[in-house]
Amino acid sequence: MGHSDAPNNPDLYFRQVPLGPMANFIYLIGSRRAGECLVVDPAWSTDALIDIAGRDGMRITGALVTHYHPDHVGGSMLGFTVPGGVAELVGRVDARVHVHKLEADGLKKITGLSEGDMVRHESGDRVQLGDVTVELIHTPGHTPGSQCFLLHDRLVSGDTLFVNGCGRVDLPGSDPAQMYETLTGRLAKLADDVVLYPGHDYGPTPTSTMREQRRTNHYLRIRSLDDWRRMMGR
Ligand SMILES: [Zn+2]
Repeated sequence: MGHSDAPNNPDLYFRQVPLGPMANFIYLIGSRRAGECLVVDPAWSTDALIDIAGRDGMRITGALVTHYHPDHVGGSMLGFTVPGGVAELVGRVDARVHVHKLEADGLKKITGLSEGDMVRHESGDRVQLGDVTVELIHTPGHTPGSQCFLLHDRLVSGDTLFVNGCGRVDLPGSDPAQMYETLTGRLAKLADDVVLYPGHDYGPTPTSTMREQRRTNHYLRIRSLDDWRRMMGR
């Protein structure tokens, strides 16, 4: 655990970037000492992301994928096409794409990314940049291989958990029962002072603490799978 991230880690570079017409939040996470960062869900504009990192004195060396929907990774799905994304990013900078193993085939299909550009991960894997450790947590439900990224007291949650909401479970590949387990079994157990950084700006505020979310987010207050199914209307 020697590399485990600390609160107020002076090496941590962390930026929340609102981008695109669907209220996405993209994140730049890195090591100030190394001058390197990873982009979480680099869709919509590769130029904008490279510019923002560059102005901060950071070089993009990889991408972290929460899940394979085009508004997070670029590419096309069901006739819906999003610019930018992981395939364009690896064409512009020397970067590997970190994805959960259950999401990797879908990611390739939707973005055209090649196998050699990807690193397939298990839950609990860690990605290290300088003194900054990112822990990958498998959080299925919205998609089979959805994952969240934990940095000591920050959770980057993709479409799994929003401020006062959670991701849709009525899409192809979604699984309401898995989402229930993710929310009640994994995310609801995070410490009070963990700050939630969601994949979309859907709530009253761009971030929130898990303490606040346990109070205000109905999806973290579900008592049983039956209650959850009733809530989801199925
Ligand atoms: Zn999604």
